[in-house]
Amino acid sequence: MNAPFEGTLFVVAAPSGAGKSTLVNALLEREPGISLSVSHTTRPPRQGETYGRHYYFVERAEFEREIAEGIFLEHAEVHGNLYGTSRTTVQQLLGQGRDVLLEIDWQGARQIRRSKPDCVSVFILPPSRAELERRLRGRGSDSTEVIERRLRNSRGEIAHAHEFDYILVNDVFDEALAGLQTIVQAVRLRSALQLQRHEALIAELLAAGA
Ligand code: 5GP
Repeated sequence: MNAPFEGTLFVVAAPSGAGKSTLVNALLEREPGISLSVSHTTRPPRQGETYGRHYYFVERAEFEREIAEGIFLEHAEVHGNLYGTSRTTVQQLLGQGRDVLLEIDWQGARQIRRSKPDCVSVFILPPSRAELERRLRGRGSDSTEVIERRLRNSRGEIAHAHEFDYILVNDVFDEALAGLQTIVQAVRLRSALQLQRHEALIAELLAAGA
């Protein structure tokens, strides 16, 4: 059953190594009203990643079939692999009044802005190039070749930061997290939403009387 008000769609992007997933996971712990959309990808699983929790890992042929079937709200090729967001999962969650967060790249963010112009997009920057490289190498789960490729691609991602509604620098983790939480909380208090949610209250406050 659909809730009276649709949830908000949040889009978070960053160059690989900016700390996006750690920030997003911490946000989800603090803001239980947000659901993370689990993407489909042709990338092989990293150690510790599981099907359905981190990604739906699929073969390229299957992913291409899914594109043809139109199951994706957006999809893109990133670092040589295909990634995509399931349309029905996102629509269902939004319809239930839940906020949904997509952790996707700038190409996907562009597609989402076109189909859902009321989405709220956030770009996360690392505090420096050296720190980005340190974080990427420190992850320990990718080969040197994959790390080099992601470092090379980071400029291409960062060049699109200006397309996003908000930009956060992830230097001190707790500060970046507080920034992300502030964005979510401010969006939830936007007057367009609040006027709908509190229609009865406003009517009561405006009613003639004492
Ligand atoms: P990773 O392989 O490190 O998990 O993700 C690589 C890049 O792909 C990240 O920038 C991530 O945000 C992006 N990505 C993950 N899922 C999706 C998706 O469903 N769509 C798009 N467009 N990008 C995605």
